[in-house]
Amino acid sequence: MNTETKKDIRAGFIGLGAMGTHMARNVARGHFLSSVWNRTEASAITLSQELGVQCAASPALLAAHVDVILICVSADADVLEVIHALLPGLRPQSIVVDMSTVSSDTAREAARLVENKGADFLDAPVTGGVEGAKNGTLAIMVGGKLTTLEKALPILETMGSRIVHMGEVGAGQAAKAVNQIMAAGINEAVTEALAFGETLGLDMRKVIDVVSSGAAGNWFLEKRGPTMTQGIFKPGFKLALHQKDLKICKGMADKLGIKLPVTEMAMNDYAKLIAEGHGDEDISALYRLKRPSP
Ligand code: NAP
Repeated sequence: MNTETKKDIRAGFIGLGAMGTHMARNVARGHFLSSVWNRTEASAITLSQELGVQCAASPALLAAHVDVILICVSADADVLEVIHALLPGLRPQSIVVDMSTVSSDTAREAARLVENKGADFLDAPVTGGVEGAKNGTLAIMVGGKLTTLEKALPILETMGSRIVHMGEVGAGQAAKAVNQIMAAGINEAVTEALAFGETLGLDMRKVIDVVSSGAAGNWFLEKRGPTMTQGIFKPGFKLALHQKDLKICKGMADKLGIKLPVTEMAMNDYAKLIAEGHGDEDISALYRLKRPSP
């Protein structure tokens, strides 16, 4: 892979997990990536060697040498921890783009910290799963100044095929909350329907094939149906991470005085699975609760 960076804009990537590793590879393919950092150093060393980029010794050192800092870590507290760690190296005019899924409040707090240093912030959560991250076809919902998005756009385009400016900081995360509520409902519906089909004794490969092609077809059925019906729940998207997102959604709904009954059902089911030790499995592990008992 030719990873020579473009001279006018250099990016660094923080958080090389299931999503971040693929996303960083695509930024490198676009010739923007100049360094990476990960809390567990081994992942950063391996990826930096693969891509021929620097392995930064700290978030602050990464921030000191790039124009755009991309972050993809787990949860709210993790994003703020990373932001605090990079602030000492952050240069005015730099742009921090958080692509993790967190609350709009966290996005606004991160923006405040970054803007105090004269830099800019975008919240830019993504959807499309590890497949979308790998193929560079993520949908990216962005909050922040349009002029800032325009500067970061060439880099975001290496990771996503649909990039939409939602409004001010926090609006990207608000749109992602809509997505996560919908994903919870789809998970409940797909796992329930497939368990029903299995109980009827149908050939589930044929069911998934034909249903995927019709009006009930959807991404989750197509990508996770074949694995869940074989008892394979490798992430993908960790169940504990979706539970974290749904708590954010529930908090937002409570403030608005609206009910999310399907989301609450998924949260109760996820809580059972997490208590049984399945939090690090893919969200399709919900099938464990629905499938016919052997
Ligand atoms: P993951 O595989 O669990 O990776 C999490 C990454 O965050 C790891 O690199 C981890 O470092 C890092 N991290 C966690 N806490 C940290 C901290 N306090 N300081 C520094 N680094 C920290 O998760 P993922 O699936 O890539 O998801 C990342 C984000 O994308 C999450 O917000 C998730 O909700 C969102 N997302 C995921 C998907 C999906 O399908 N997986 C889809 C859309 C959005 P270590 O290597 O040291 O653990």
